[in-house]
Amino acid sequence: MNYQKGKVKYIFVTGGVVSSLGKGIASSSIGLLLKKRGLRVNIQKFDPYINVDPGTMNPFQHGEVFVLDDGAETDLDLGHYERFIDENLTRDNNLTSGQIYDAVITRERKGGYLGSTVQVIPHITNEIKDRIKKVGERNGGVDVVITEIGGTVGDIESLPFLESIRQMGLECGPERTLFIHLTLVPFIESAGELKTKPTQHSVKELREIGIQPNILLCRTAQPLTKQIKEKIGLFCNVPAQAVIQAIDVDCIYEVPILFHQEGLDNLIIQHLDLKCGELSMDDWAKMMEKIKNPKKKVKIGICGKYTHLKDAYKSIIEAFVHAGVENDARVELQWINAEEVTHQTAGKILEDIDGVLIPGGFGERGIEGKIEAVRYVRENKVPYLGICLGMHCAVVEFARNVCSLEKANTYEVDQATPYPVIHLMPDQEKITDMGGTMRLGAYPCILEKDSLVYKAYGEEKISERHRHRYEFHNRFRDVLTKAGMKLTGLSPDGRLVEIIELTDHPWFVAVQFHPELKSRPTKAHPLFRDLVKAALKYRKSRSSSLCDEKEQVKK
Ligand code: GLN
Repeated sequence: MNYQKGKVKYIFVTGGVVSSLGKGIASSSIGLLLKKRGLRVNIQKFDPYINVDPGTMNPFQHGEVFVLDDGAETDLDLGHYERFIDENLTRDNNLTSGQIYDAVITRERKGGYLGSTVQVIPHITNEIKDRIKKVGERNGGVDVVITEIGGTVGDIESLPFLESIRQMGLECGPERTLFIHLTLVPFIESAGELKTKPTQHSVKELREIGIQPNILLCRTAQPLTKQIKEKIGLFCNVPAQAVIQAIDVDCIYEVPILFHQEGLDNLIIQHLDLKCGELSMDDWAKMMEKIKNPKKKVKIGICGKYTHLKDAYKSIIEAFVHAGVENDARVELQWINAEEVTHQTAGKILEDIDGVLIPGGFGERGIEGKIEAVRYVRENKVPYLGICLGMHCAVVEFARNVCSLEKANTYEVDQATPYPVIHLMPDQEKITDMGGTMRLGAYPCILEKDSLVYKAYGEEKISERHRHRYEFHNRFRDVLTKAGMKLTGLSPDGRLVEIIELTDHPWFVAVQFHPELKSRPTKAHPLFRDLVKAALKYRKSRSSSLCDEKEQVKK
């Protein structure tokens, strides 16, 4: 709207006191509010760790790896960014210390700094600043760049990033830069009071490195009174009206609405002198209404390995919220530990579940339980969505129990299997490096017209994001399809099986890609939407047959 080169404005979001305060959601909410006022925004995250990307990290430590269209393996906050601002981002939107140092060291080896001693200041900080400016040029330029600095102020490793944004403040001036600090105002039970001291200390720490925050977002379990806001303002050198309450909420999509009520978007717009329109959030408000007051209820079982660690399945959880909105239903998720599912226990564990999802995963643990869960849903006609490893399990189960290919398996788990129905992709065979070497990112897929997936997407050519090394083994196409498996999605050259369905089942779909990564709050992913729809139907049919049984008993 008002983009002029060199006039991009920058918002920097830092966090203090403790981690996990919701900086990602806060940054996404700010992005949404500005976008809903007609501004063009881009959001970026810096992660201070040394790994080049989170692709090699254990989900126990880092949660889900969010894959972008261009194949970048990124932090799960990128998922929030995409879901809130409803745009596809690129690898420039998530950078780590590892990537920054890698770029600087590579340049140094090529003689790019000949003569200089390469140092944190200015070489590393210049590299960081260049990466910030680069995202401002996206799609012909944006009005505002929001840069979130991962970690907590006071960490040694985040210092180069904080120094870089301090320099940006100096170079661009206060009318083009805004510093927002997210902190915690804890409620101390024994004193019956909210405490401001941790916030004071955290801001002091920021000011020591030369950054004076303009706005404080105060995470709290209790509303902040005017007096508390004034006290925080006074001690932290911030006007009281720039002390914004960030109260705990049940649903993350409420955060931008509450921030707006606190006046956050107006504060930002005034400070940065942004020319924009009024806020229009009708679609968002409608979605919130549906989340809060759904008419129906449905129970979906998620059978995986990291069931106690919800961050590992963040996008899946969110995709079910979105699918619930479109079906006017509350989707209750039941977490099923795959290691507990056996031939004997499957019936009991899955008894009152209306639909099952098996998510992506790696390695052997829990795999037999997942295969048993698939057997149960196939035989009992429970709606099923398999994602990546969830598709591999579906193929193995069908090969073993329908096609009698005894000991059929995925090559990932059993290299000696006589029937490797899922095999290593040929271009993966010689790869030894772990980082960034899977088949990653968006690839096209062509759908068969007579299929559940075509019904869901409503188009023949789709594009979905991938992250895998193994694939459906083409040698087994004939035997599996003759027994009733349908290959309803293939790569455009016809060589790679992307989707399978079953003929003798109301809704059984398994896909090689990760649909959860493209679901958005106001635009649920078609496969999640239709799984929930099928599950609602299954629930209804089950409850009426239960009623029939009761009637029979009475008679
Ligand atoms: N481990 C399997 C593979 O590498 C599945 C990966 C996944 O589920 N994302 O192909």
